Amino acid sequence: MARIELKNIVKKYGDGFPAVNDVSLDIADGEFVILVGPSGCGKSTLLRMIVGLEDITDGDLLIDGKRVNDLAPRDRDLAMVFQNYALYPHLTVGENIAFPLRLNHSKVPESEIRERVQRAADMLELHEHLDRKPANLSGGQRQRVAMGRAIVRDAKAFLFDEPLSNLDAKLRGQMRTEIARMQRSLATTTVYVTHDQTEAMTLGDRVAVLRKGVLQQVASPRELYEQP
Ligand code: ADP
Ligand code: ADP
Repeated sequence: MARIELKNIVKKYGDGFPAVNDVSLDIADGEFVILVGPSGCGKSTLLRMIVGLEDITDGDLLIDGKRVNDLAPRDRDLAMVFQNYALYPHLTVGENIAFPLRLNHSKVPESEIRERVQRAADMLELHEHLDRKPANLSGGQRQRVAMGRAIVRDAKAFLFDEPLSNLDAKLRGQMRTEIARMQRSLATTTVYVTHDQTEAMTLGDRVAVLRKGVLQQVASPRELYEQP
């Protein structure tokens, strides 16, 4: 769990108009924030800056009060879940989930890795599939594996980039419920990018609306719903 503070964050790619322009947002420990806005408004760029995959041009990013602008992704200890799942095709489900724990720098003992993978598989109902390869899974199962890989690390926060947009409507509803349950039970700080109105209005504590790189509004779903 972590508090994530964005202070006047700017991202410029080349000389063009900033992709993210002076965004400030204080995300509380355990809070679930939804990031919405039209395509190209800077949602992915913002997430990628938070996780450390993209340099911040200007402004400060604080995690638990500590400035992390120059920290490598692994030292920020945040877990990102991508729209395309980004699973390793040659690894089994279990190996995919365990992967972040097997990186050299993590030094987690094998017995604990096994235990943590089991726990993640429990939470996501992936037990029967641990020995299968991603190619043999449904879209929903692949998305669960991607979430398992995030859960297993006990990361300080989850960053979701349109995690359900490749799924059909029925599965999307199901996974939405699961994500809500998972976030409630783990109480992990979450920033979640979506295009989906229902996800925006049901999942988060607050919704942040981004337009052309500028944060236009931050409000609870109820406040947004009741506004004229
Ligand atoms: P969103 O996720 O809301 O669709 P993005 O963060 O992907 O928006 O993009 C925001 C803006 O930054 C867009 O104008 C996009 O074209 C531009 N952009 C994104 N990534 C790059 C990049 N690697 N190089 C140059 N411009 C980029
Ligand atoms: P190395 O050079 O050792 O590979 P890097 O800093 O380049 O280290 O990145 C690897 C570390 O960063 C790993 O701990 C990996 O889990 C983490 N990481 C990389 N990309 C992401 C991401 N999108 N979301 C979360 N963590 C990431």
